[in-house]
Amino acid sequence: MKVLVINCGSSSLKYQVLDMDGEILMAKGLVERIGLDGSVIKHEKVGRDKFVNETPMKDHKEAIKQVLDAIVDQDHGVLKSMAEIGAVGHRVVHAGEKYARSVMITDDVIKALEECVELAPLHNPPNLLGIAACKELMPDIPMIGVFDTAFHQTMPPESYIYAIPYDYYTKYCIRRYGFHGTSHKYVAQRASEILNVNLDDLKIITCHLGNGASLSAIKRGKCIDTSMGFTPLEGLVMGTRCGDLDPAIVSYIREKENLPFGKVNEILNKKSGVLGISGVSSDFRDLEDAAAEGNERAQLALKVFSHRVRFYIGAYIAEMNGVDAIVFTAGLGENSINMRDIICNDLGNLGIKLDLVKNRIRGKEAIISRDDSPVKVILIPTNEELMIARDTVDIVTGKMPK
Ligand code: ADP
Repeated sequence: MKVLVINCGSSSLKYQVLDMDGEILMAKGLVERIGLDGSVIKHEKVGRDKFVNETPMKDHKEAIKQVLDAIVDQDHGVLKSMAEIGAVGHRVVHAGEKYARSVMITDDVIKALEECVELAPLHNPPNLLGIAACKELMPDIPMIGVFDTAFHQTMPPESYIYAIPYDYYTKYCIRRYGFHGTSHKYVAQRASEILNVNLDDLKIITCHLGNGASLSAIKRGKCIDTSMGFTPLEGLVMGTRCGDLDPAIVSYIREKENLPFGKVNEILNKKSGVLGISGVSSDFRDLEDAAAEGNERAQLALKVFSHRVRFYIGAYIAEMNGVDAIVFTAGLGENSINMRDIICNDLGNLGIKLDLVKNRIRGKEAIISRDDSPVKVILIPTNEELMIARDTVDIVTGKMPK
């Protein structure tokens, strides 16, 4: 079955076409500046040069039309006609407590996702626009929703309940949800395959370290804790997000700087993290360069970042009473030899012994711990699109319930 995977942002859209009979990527692309001047589609048939077309796209429907045209184009397309698409898998960020797994998108599902807009005001609306556009353009092709929050729904209440009046949970659904679930689930499954040990027999800590970053504690294949919370702001220090913070700081900054509340929220989301500490960049490549040149605030930002990751690793080892594998994934986790080294440094007493030579690798699956390390450290490039396509096929073929 050929599956189209769609990940809609507010002004951008990423897509892939996969032939799931061999899990082969056929084409991928990116539409940028939807609804803005200079809308552009960058389409890539695997093994061929990028096809770039700058053309006005006033909304997500027009963007998806361009995607479909590119996919069936005689020159750079990969399908003869749209009818070849067996199903569409949509990445959706927030499904609240409603869905603990992927589901077939029906009108009821759309309604439930609309109810989650308040919980993810930046992410769910564009995800829903993508779903509506596909429904209009391909009414007969089944659509599956794959949710970032779903994998974390197995967390026990002690992991997800905040210590605020319980009413706020029941009235406003304020609890910890967690994000990046599709990535955490994918790399945990791959770790089990690489180690050739059943997921049921493993305790894994997955470290998704990108611009947004989160850790998960996965025991017997189930997530029991994760570092992001009610929103993706909680937990680790990130590129521009502050992560864990004394909540009293919010009103203190507001008062001192005489700011409206929305502005504080924006500062904590967009001007904080390693960018806020260093004043240099949110990109770890720039930070590592600046740190190497002696920039003390860049050095500090990297230290604060790694400190928080180590803090969570320690907490999750305690929560699971041990760990068998630590997995690094996403932009920074897959590529920064230096950061993996700092995070794993001097953890021998916890059974974590990184092999400094094996660690000299980027973007490829590899076990990077020493042979005598009781805990395996593994580098696994994430592949959320493949995970979405797998769930899509499983639901459409009845392997997983609708
Ligand atoms: P997201 O999907 O959250 O935007 P990614 O997973 O693509 O993020 O990760 C992006 C981040 O990965 C970049 O901001 C950069 O800091 C980091 N990164 C990518 N390559 C490298 C590298 N070679 N060395 C250090 N950091 C890197």
